[in-house]
Amino acid sequence: MTNIAANLKDIQASIEKSAKKWQQEVEGITLVAVSKKQPLERVVAALDVGQRVFGENRVQEAQNKWPELKEKYSGVELRLIGPLQTNKAKEAVALFDVIETVDRPKLARILAKEMKVAGKDLPVYIQINIGEEEQKAGIAISDADAFIKECKEEHGLNVVGLMCIPPAGEQAAPFFAILKRIADRNGLEKLSMGMSSDYQIGVQFGATSVRVGTGVFGSREEQK
Ligand SMILES: *Cc1c(COP(=O)(O)O)cnc(C)c1O
Repeated sequence: MTNIAANLKDIQASIEKSAKKWQQEVEGITLVAVSKKQPLERVVAALDVGQRVFGENRVQEAQNKWPELKEKYSGVELRLIGPLQTNKAKEAVALFDVIETVDRPKLARILAKEMKVAGKDLPVYIQINIGEEEQKAGIAISDADAFIKECKEEHGLNVVGLMCIPPAGEQAAPFFAILKRIADRNGLEKLSMGMSSDYQIGVQFGATSVRVGTGVFGSREEQK
């Protein structure tokens, strides 16, 4: 059995420790519990001990569990942290409170349109392809400044920060440092960086949110 309450406590303590060590503001750091592919009872266990911010990476999977949970538990903030297809934008806007994966002009345009239709102005993050990996989502580093500007000025999106997933098997620190630099020069305050294996490093480099899945819930169910 995974002790989710203890995991959450340990991770919070570890976030605080890292923040103190690197002189980051601990109050400004949000633990996003990544509940994708987790059995419902584990998600409920986290909700029952007061966890309120969750991340999901697929619209459809999130639709299967969250509308009901959001009705039952007040104050839930649900973040989309996976790639978003434009044909799911409308559903994403209806269900999520924050969208962390805006990564291309077409998506930015359609999200802006759907938010207008829904009368919403959701905070969004721009996902940066920080390792310049061909197979990874995210806007290229060289296009980041122009894209951020386009999202804000052309599409009127409420861009609050940047998100990245560093290349697997490499030291995350240099990539987090680059993300921070891009955010600073664009006047963006929020940084979503760090997962189970490297969230302390995310905090070191100024993360305002870390996305922790297995560290909170234990290993995920195999995808069918
Ligand atoms: C699954 C996922 C996470 C959480 O990963 P863990 O290693 O389980 O902490 C974080 N961010 C994104 C974008 C993910 O898809």
